[in-house]
Amino acid sequence: MADHAPYPTGAPRAGTHLSASPHVGDDRDAADVAAALEAGRVLFAGECRFVQAAQGLDHLPAPGGPEVAFAGRSNVGKSSLLNALTGRHALARVSAAPGRTRQLNFFDLAGRLTLVDMPGYGYARAPQDVKADWQGLMFDYLRGRPTLRRVMLLLDARIEIKPIDTSVLGLLDRAAVAFQIVLTKIDAVKPAALARKVEEAARLARAHPAAHPEVLPTSSETGAGIADLRAALAGLAIG
Ligand code: GDP
Repeated sequence: MADHAPYPTGAPRAGTHLSASPHVGDDRDAADVAAALEAGRVLFAGECRFVQAAQGLDHLPAPGGPEVAFAGRSNVGKSSLLNALTGRHALARVSAAPGRTRQLNFFDLAGRLTLVDMPGYGYARAPQDVKADWQGLMFDYLRGRPTLRRVMLLLDARIEIKPIDTSVLGLLDRAAVAFQIVLTKIDAVKPAALARKVEEAARLARAHPAAHPEVLPTSSETGAGIADLRAALAGLAIG
């Protein structure tokens, strides 16, 4: 019976129509959301293991299960978000360790999903340097990884979208990679400003065919949106 399946047959996958606030009285939506949130909780309650760091394409782990990569400007809050997601401080420590800032770090979630921590881009650099920064390993990884299901592109809710972010969106388009915008640090933004930010990010997503239409607002500080992000990721995981 579909009753016990994590996703009822025919239900939208997490991340398609997922909303933390289903319409009151809409039992089906509410049940779908609850199931997706539970799937996310279960996925991240399990084992999370550092697999490997890669500084070159020849160091990538053999493609296996589905992968989701996390990308964003330096200081966007990527390490904090990965920690909040997994509840494991060791994860960001690995990624932040000296010498590991220019490499891809792979983490395995119980064999069901691989999280890939990409180097932060754009620290004190001009937009035209994105290509230089991200070409080579980054671009080749993005374009050539058959198991890469989605890139979570992190944008800081407190500050305006920078030319360097727009430039990375273009790069994702060229790499033909599906991506989704995740807003970070929403605790630091007032509700009206956040609503404008979400709309701005959604507009940006609509302008890019490879972008997932749903924007995910999060805060590592308060935990807001973390369960929804877990749910969206569980929608990409095996079984
Ligand atoms: P990374 O360089 O992208 O890995 O960013 P970090 O996770 O190291 O965070 C950069 C800065 O943003 C640090 O000072 C964090 O304390 C701060 N930060 C990260 N997440 C949040 C958040 O959710 N809310 C607030 N207010 N600050 C955050």
